[in-house]
Amino acid sequence: MGSPTPTNPEHLAAWASILRVLPIPAALVLPDGVVIDANRWLKVEPGETLLEYTEDPSSTLRFGTLGSRWRVRPLDEDGSVLLATGEREDAGDHLLRMFFSSGDSLFVVYDQEGRIIQSNAAWEELLGYSGEEIFGVDSWTLLPEDDLETRANVEQDLRTDGRSNPTFNMRRADGTYRLVQWNLHFDFTVGRCFGIGRDVTEENRATSELQRRATTDALTGLTNRTELTERLSQLLSEGASPALLYCDLDQFKVVNDSLGHGAGDNLLSKLGRRLDAVNVGDDVTVARFGGDEFVVLLDNADEARANHVAETFLRALKRPFTLANRQVHASMSIGMAVCDTTCSTSASDLLSRADTAVYEAKRQGRGRSVLFDEQLRAATARRFDVEVGLRSALLDGQIETWYQPIVELATGHICGAEALVRWRDGDNILTPGHFLDVAEEASLMSEIGSHVMNWALEVAAPLIDQDPHFIMSLNVSHNELIAAGYVHELRETAKSYGVPPENVLIEITEHTAISTDQALPLLNELREHGFKIALDDFGTGYSSLSHLRDLPIDVVKIDRSFVSALNDDLVTRSLTKSLIELSQALNLDVILEGVETLPQSAAAVSLGGTVAQGYLFHHPMPARELLELEELARRDNDTVDTAEDTTEDSTEDTVPDAA
Ligand code: C2E
Ligand code: CA
Ligand code: CA
Repeated sequence: MGSPTPTNPEHLAAWASILRVLPIPAALVLPDGVVIDANRWLKVEPGETLLEYTEDPSSTLRFGTLGSRWRVRPLDEDGSVLLATGEREDAGDHLLRMFFSSGDSLFVVYDQEGRIIQSNAAWEELLGYSGEEIFGVDSWTLLPEDDLETRANVEQDLRTDGRSNPTFNMRRADGTYRLVQWNLHFDFTVGRCFGIGRDVTEENRATSELQRRATTDALTGLTNRTELTERLSQLLSEGASPALLYCDLDQFKVVNDSLGHGAGDNLLSKLGRRLDAVNVGDDVTVARFGGDEFVVLLDNADEARANHVAETFLRALKRPFTLANRQVHASMSIGMAVCDTTCSTSASDLLSRADTAVYEAKRQGRGRSVLFDEQLRAATARRFDVEVGLRSALLDGQIETWYQPIVELATGHICGAEALVRWRDGDNILTPGHFLDVAEEASLMSEIGSHVMNWALEVAAPLIDQDPHFIMSLNVSHNELIAAGYVHELRETAKSYGVPPENVLIEITEHTAISTDQALPLLNELREHGFKIALDDFGTGYSSLSHLRDLPIDVVKIDRSFVSALNDDLVTRSLTKSLIELSQALNLDVILEGVETLPQSAAAVSLGGTVAQGYLFHHPMPARELLELEELARRDNDTVDTAEDTTEDSTEDTVPDAA
């Protein structure tokens, strides 16, 4: 049988070197069993016949010469060279399988001292050394100098059970490192260590990138919500006392709307970086929770430290940010939660406490920090209940409008009425004090205001028919006023009920008028359309006499706190007197609010007051009662008129209309 000549001498040389380091008897043979080369475990010479010829070179043969089990496999694709391995079959086979299975596998053989005596092409290519260069080199010198631990562990493993599976960095010829995962096997009989390795540098990089992505926020590079929550849970389970600062940017929407989303993102990432750079301790993690919310975790902190950190953060925002060539000031509200004695051990509970507190910080006017406590939770729960109730009340038609008549002090004549919102909750009639704050926060004020406006103007129409001077007052909050379309809605509604604007008095507080620049133009616009404006609750809060002169108003409503003290307090009395005089001098009408007693009414008159409202005259009442009251008054009037007429013309019928 003619044996094919090996086609590739280079291959042959490579296999020959592998042969020498195999820890088992092995030979390179031609398909007819003629030995090309053999290792030292096999005492045969080239040219001798080792195998009987077989059609199936991959089969396991019982082979006569050595009486052993042999395994034969083709090395060249065309089957011209076979590798025969015998005895110690398992170990040899295992190594061979690994070695030949992938051309990318690194293969290396060390002696007992760790010197490299054989390496394959993949190893040399990866690390950039040639076989001669690296021959005899202490393999440990290829590890980073500080990695003494790996060496110790590997040596220990190899000594005790001949195996080790370390992953370590190896220095390449160019000084860079590759991370290699090794499968090392020490063969005590030959005093050699065989290593099969895999370059896992990229894999590891990809894994850590995936991990980084999973734990960090893409926009800011800060820790993300998942990671922070995990860390918090971990701390709590370890019995630490972590504190949270829930930071929410104030009015971020304004930046987004006015400068664009790009600038908004820019602000968030700059802000994130600035917060992260604030130095308040080593145990601080700044995370972005999404949107404009950041959460700061302090591994261990009490109330005082949390406060201090919050203050530091708030101060860090005093410096403006530069966005799209503009200086932008950002402020944020911070809700703090610390682990006090009542602290449960759940991360979500601590987070929800901080969240509750940030809500309160917003409510208190933003740009500040608020610490969570149980009262805050109760207040929040109430607000939540009220909001839910209010939403369904709006759907179910439980929002009503009541009216408090406004009277002329001299005659008791009803010259107008103030529309006051009510919530009919079962048998209870709830006054605005129970729900208006929540309605404002929940942005329900405009919807409520719409209801009130519609009812009130509908009710006003017949009253104005009776008395062309009748004025219907509507309370309007700042948010309602500046909401898009308010002026338009008011005009349309008045028009639809045939109510002239002159008969509608819009009541605003000084706060509404001056807290933003948006209100003033709208007030002017209302007046241009003929509506009247009243400054409500005058004398409380922001009061300034100059407002009487400068604001576009027609009426001043002097607050109840003045009226109630008229008879007891001389200072109040004289102040009220000057207010009335000043208003009159400025051509403003004055309404005194909250007149409850006859002496108060008398005092009001003596100070020059002419128009008032208060429990002394009428409590707020449903529309039907107001209409009945007016009907009665009209009839009384008619009676008086008729009586007067009678004195002039006795032929007229003196019986009032009974209809
Ligand atoms: P306000 O505008 O000052 O309305 C007068 C409040 O004083 C009313 O309270 C009225 O019931 C009460 N009051 C009237 N006379 C007396 C009195 O002699 N003694 C006492 N102690 N109180 C008197 P109410 O109805 O509870 O309304 C409270 C506030 O809610 C109002 O104060 C107003 O600021 C706001 N409000 C009421 N309705 C509306 C509305 O439809 N829209 C808006 N935006 N706010 C409203
Ligand atoms: Ca009012
Ligand atoms: Ca008032």
